[in-house]
Amino acid sequence: MPTEQSSALQAWVDYYRDLGVYDFYRRGEPQPTAGEPVQAAGAVSAGETVGLAPMEQDQAAAAISAVPARVAAKIAAPPVEDDAPPIWTTPELAVPQPAQLLSFDQLAPLPSARVPPTERAAALTAIQEEIGDCTRCPLAYAGRHKIVFADGASTARLMFIGEGPGADEDAQGLPFVGRAGQLLNNMIAAMGLKREEVYIANIVKCRPPGNRVPEPVEAQTCSQFLLRQIDVVQPEVIVALGSTAATYLLGVRKSLSALRGRWHTCRGAKLAVTYHPAFLLRDPRQKAEAWKDLQMVMGEMGLTPPAKKPS
Ligand code: URA
Repeated sequence: MPTEQSSALQAWVDYYRDLGVYDFYRRGEPQPTAGEPVQAAGAVSAGETVGLAPMEQDQAAAAISAVPARVAAKIAAPPVEDDAPPIWTTPELAVPQPAQLLSFDQLAPLPSARVPPTERAAALTAIQEEIGDCTRCPLAYAGRHKIVFADGASTARLMFIGEGPGADEDAQGLPFVGRAGQLLNNMIAAMGLKREEVYIANIVKCRPPGNRVPEPVEAQTCSQFLLRQIDVVQPEVIVALGSTAATYLLGVRKSLSALRGRWHTCRGAKLAVTYHPAFLLRDPRQKAEAWKDLQMVMGEMGLTPPAKKPS
């Protein structure tokens, strides 16, 4: 297909995606009538790409020439190269192939310089600004209201990482503010800490529709930002809440029971795996097991549970 036609088609696809239309399909191959040239297998016409009937060459050309101004602008404008951003915004990321699962340690080398504590809040703001009104993965078009960046202290010693925002988080733009968040707050308090003292984030920053598990492409697209957040905050300990967090942070697909009860490493921090608070709400019998995981963390960090108030 000529380059001009292929850019026009891409612009149409982008245009429909902007409108929230993702599923494009092709009608079956048109049966050539006598004397008509046969279209090469795999060739796609402009009409077919958006699910319309195949068009004649001149109709396709007319459709392409009638593209809305914003689509035409996309075709005409070459991508703009940004100025080189600061060090923590540009790790040399390994690009995972589909179905390849890389740990956060394999995704990018550790930064050579640490961000000083006084600059961490600004560095996190810079990452948030770079994310902007993100449309890098399908979750941007799946009913998201707010991007949930993170919550907590930029100099936290302890970081909790969950799976992705639910309905409450999507509405408020903050992680773990629903029922699971209430339980996480209790877990943090039981460790003798305040929520404001820890840093809380998720594998994906946008709510997966129906609270489904994030798809690999969504998790991998979002990982580049979480990875930088970890590198800026430099927690001593990370707690992966549930199997999605553990899978993407560690780059392994293993059961929680195979991962709990021992230390892993992630971006220079020690990493422990425990149950997701939402799972604990469904099966409270596992709270004792989760408490064992948190006690392992407390031992490492020299934390003691708060004294019980006299009744
Ligand atoms: N579950 C998560 O994994 N993250 C949230 O922020 C809320 C619920």
